[in-house]
Amino acid sequence: MSDEVNKYGNTDNTDRDGDEKRRPKTFYKKKVCRFCNQKLKINYKEPEALKRFITERGKILPRRITGTCAKHQRKLATEIKRARALALLPFVINE
Ligand SMILES: [Zn+2]
Repeated sequence: MSDEVNKYGNTDNTDRDGDEKRRPKTFYKKKVCRFCNQKLKINYKEPEALKRFITERGKILPRRITGTCAKHQRKLATEIKRARALALLPFVINE
């Protein structure tokens, strides 16, 4: 039950849970959290899986894009940061 909370204490604000008030009236496809749904494991040792949740610039995708639930988004962010610390994922990608 105890969630490990960001022991790296970095200032990456990707954990923000900003639900925007105004929602665009574009097609809204209901997304289900891929980790809840497919029982995918979030692990820093699998950067290939984590790569699907970062942009081409190396930023963590917000959960309103990926549909990941709050719990897994937090876990995901932690694992991505862990992977970054181990140089499995980049911090920034410059073109
Ligand atoms: Zn989930």
